[in-house]
Amino acid sequence: MKVLVIGGGGREHALVWSLGKSSQVSEVVCAPGNGGIATIARCVPVDVNDLGAMVALVEAERPALTVVGPEVPLSLGIVDELERRGCRVFGPTKAAARLESSKAFAKEFMQRHEIPTAAHAVCTTLDEVREQLRRFSVPVVVKADGLAAGKGVVICETHVQAETAAAEMFSGALLGTREAEVVLEEFLTGEELSFFALCDGVHAVEIASAQDHKRVGEGDTGPNTGGMGAYSTDGLATPAMRHWLLRNVAQKVVDGMKAEGAPFKGILFCGLMMTPRGPMVLEFNTRFGDPETEAILLRMESDVVDLLNASIDGTANEIAVKMKPGASACVIAASGGYPGKYVSGKVIDGLSDLQAGDGDVVVFHAGTAVRDGQLVTAGGRVLAVTAVAPELRMALDKAYAALAKISFEGMQFRRDIGHRALR
Ligand code: AMP
Repeated sequence: MKVLVIGGGGREHALVWSLGKSSQVSEVVCAPGNGGIATIARCVPVDVNDLGAMVALVEAERPALTVVGPEVPLSLGIVDELERRGCRVFGPTKAAARLESSKAFAKEFMQRHEIPTAAHAVCTTLDEVREQLRRFSVPVVVKADGLAAGKGVVICETHVQAETAAAEMFSGALLGTREAEVVLEEFLTGEELSFFALCDGVHAVEIASAQDHKRVGEGDTGPNTGGMGAYSTDGLATPAMRHWLLRNVAQKVVDGMKAEGAPFKGILFCGLMMTPRGPMVLEFNTRFGDPETEAILLRMESDVVDLLNASIDGTANEIAVKMKPGASACVIAASGGYPGKYVSGKVIDGLSDLQAGDGDVVVFHAGTAVRDGQLVTAGGRVLAVTAVAPELRMALDKAYAALAKISFEGMQFRRDIGHRALR
């Protein structure tokens, strides 16, 4: 069958790569794709912010299945529009995607359904922020309500800082768009964990756990990014903890959304803080995370098409997701200056030697393009060098050995991916 993937980052490269391994897939099209995806799938241009253009593309291509990678098309309602037209599509509806697209909705939802999360207040004015701040000790976390690509969370050491952050969110100075709502949140401490579940509107099934590295600098310093690396191992959480998270977080979300008339289908990514008081939800993503997806899909032994179909058909309870035992790791090579200003168009060297590799190392492209026959950088995050091995240390060694062969002007990467697990 023909599958269309919407998006053009490392996550979509990993999805296209996984789909290409399935015996059920005869053709993969990716929109808009990137320089790396173009080597394994037909890429067609599309603006992922333009709902009409994406729907027109699906109608023209007529795939048997459409898979939506990024959060923006989901929040615009691409799944609703395609389902209305009788197209088969993987992902949540606009109403279900509010778990990610509105932090205020997610917090209130968790409160309604007794899902553990930090104490919070939703504010619509600066006066309300000042008033509510009295209830919070410092540090306090200030979050923009809407999608912000990792830039909408500010951890504030003082109430004055928190007021300033909230004011900048309301005015649009921080994110470029005015926020109607700002969430204040209790600051939590502990290890972070990402727990992925496949949902079909009724059932939630565990896929795997992973850990992301959001800060740009080694030792978790500097500004937040889209993610500088990730790893996935069986040992990230005990079987008892994974069972607890499935029952008390993922399944509660699915039950709650069904009860509220917005059944949740697709990938539920639970971003958790493992606090001394127990696991608490920091956020939900309603799609595959990036770069965790690169690490997870390299470990996956199940046919990804079976997972996507089970979510759409309501049969997720009939499948068991099979992962390779051991570990995988993904290290991001980013443009110099990222997550601030950076220059694109830098020639990428060293990749051709790697592409004939042993299959344990795959270089997914996050932001690349082909110009005049040369592969060049075309984004902040450029490559996601991913490796799988029986142990995390080995997976990291393989990824870093591959990365050592790659170069482009200004290339930066973190040398300490996986440091918490190795410690
Ligand atoms: P979020 O987009 O809500 O996951 O937040 C991005 C990052 O900010 C998280 O991965 C955490 O590192 C941090 N963060 C968010 N909320 C909190 C909180 N309540 N306490 C401490 N850190 C937080």
